[in-house]
Amino acid sequence: MSVSQETNNLLKDKLKETFGFSQFRGEQEEIIQNTLDGKNTFVIMPTGAGKSLCYQMPAIAMDGTAIVISPLIALMKNQVDQMNAFGINAQFLNSSLNKTEMNKVKTEVLNGEVKLLYIAPESLTKEDNLEFLKQAKLSFVAIDEAHCISEWGHDFRPEYRRIKSIVESLDSNLPIIALTATATPKVQQDIQKNLNMEDSTIFKSSFNRKNLYYEIRAKKDIDKQIIRYIKSNHGKAGIIYCLSRKKVEEVAELLNVNGIKALPYHAGLDGSVRMANQEAFLNEEVEVMVATIAFGMGIDKPDVRFVIHYDTPKSLEGYYQETGRAGRDGLEGNCIMFYAHEDIIKLDKFNKDKTVTERDNAKMLLNEMVSYSNLGSCRRRQLLHYFGEYFPQDCGFCDNCLKPTPKYKAEEEVALAIRAVDLTGERFDAQHLAEVLMGVKNQYITSYEHHKLDIFGKGKNFFKLQEDEDEDEDDDDEQDEEFSDEEDEDGNPISKAPKPKPAPKAKKKKEPELNPVDQWVS
Ligand code: ADP
Ligand code: ZN
Repeated sequence: MSVSQETNNLLKDKLKETFGFSQFRGEQEEIIQNTLDGKNTFVIMPTGAGKSLCYQMPAIAMDGTAIVISPLIALMKNQVDQMNAFGINAQFLNSSLNKTEMNKVKTEVLNGEVKLLYIAPESLTKEDNLEFLKQAKLSFVAIDEAHCISEWGHDFRPEYRRIKSIVESLDSNLPIIALTATATPKVQQDIQKNLNMEDSTIFKSSFNRKNLYYEIRAKKDIDKQIIRYIKSNHGKAGIIYCLSRKKVEEVAELLNVNGIKALPYHAGLDGSVRMANQEAFLNEEVEVMVATIAFGMGIDKPDVRFVIHYDTPKSLEGYYQETGRAGRDGLEGNCIMFYAHEDIIKLDKFNKDKTVTERDNAKMLLNEMVSYSNLGSCRRRQLLHYFGEYFPQDCGFCDNCLKPTPKYKAEEEVALAIRAVDLTGERFDAQHLAEVLMGVKNQYITSYEHHKLDIFGKGKNFFKLQEDEDEDEDDDDEQDEEFSDEEDEDGNPISKAPKPKPAPKAKKKKEPELNPVDQWVS
């Protein structure tokens, strides 16, 4: 038997003995071997593909302690508990430990008893921790959620950019394994450059989730649409993502009032409440979890049948991650996002206090979201293209593939739009241009004298037909006020939650108040 065959068998035995799994999944075995060979490794795999095993296995097999850099305390604890349950000594080092607990962990590491040491990047940079790590025998460094390194990614964490120099100060020969579930080609290059591992072996698996159905709906009568959808999918587990904590509370209440068992989850809730709500969802005591992005990381519920985005997410990476929590068992998974341009404007406002680079980046991510949402062709192709993957044909399993949007020639409209861009000096955004074309005479427009341009109001002609249709739709809106008299498909009345009052109908909508958006909780 050759040496490599022998190690392969040893690895398989270890896999069975420790985790009880009889096969490696995808490229897990090659990845593990690469780290065992002392090489740098870069793993890009979708959520749920089994990334953790790629560093857990070599950590068990090698001498010394593997450092695992992870951004979330909650995630670390989860993983450590899991490893301990498998009989492996894993520990974490973060701000949740007191002095005695910390010393205990350090002693165990120095005694060579700990196989995996999870650590937050902030703790890694602390001087006394560095001194301690210099004395320890280390096997390699794993960087989980490696996209946090890149400013072009969706969860940039400045401390992540210091990892490389710290690792070098410990031991410049330590192999590194970087792992992430999302990396556009740009982010991927940035990570490699920052970690100085352009020579690493890259393992990138397909991001295509065949069983997920993607659909975007206009954000109109959203509450009614959601209630109908859930009622017609009775008994199936689902997650609804909202942007604000306040919205999460409102939607959860709305569902409960309508006889759908739902619970809220956001970072503003007490830790014990969050834990209890999460448990209730995992144990199927409730059907629906209404949540901010704080929910989902590291939660392994295989039978989530739908993920609804009540609001537009900030980036396609976020959207992909969140929709990725549907159908992890490979069975049905419906991903429905409600889109309104107002959401984009709202999200853009969140960025106003950021630095210029951060703002530009956030804008770019948002623009990708807008173009995905407004797409007339296959969504899967576009989504995969965004992650640098070529998908050769239309998928046949997204809204645009199943119900293609009617096409029409828009030469004149396009010519007019281009003229508007030209005449206004290529300096104004789409909103402004649309207002000029529609003949909106506000202060801003008159201050630039754009009301004097010959294109001012010229767009109105094109929308004649559309306006007529809108009038019909307005009648529909009128009925919405009588929402409580509506019936769902089973003939049961749909009720409104008592609290959230519908906004009075007005031509110009007041800007909704912004609520804190959940960020990383570490
Ligand atoms: P990721 O980090 O890529 O999101 P995880 O590491 O959390 O994924 O793994 C997802 C699930 O797959 C976990 O429940 C894990 O135990 C399981 N898993 C991983 N590798 C295997 C394997 N080789 N065989 C069976 N199950 C596996
Ligand atoms: Zn498609």
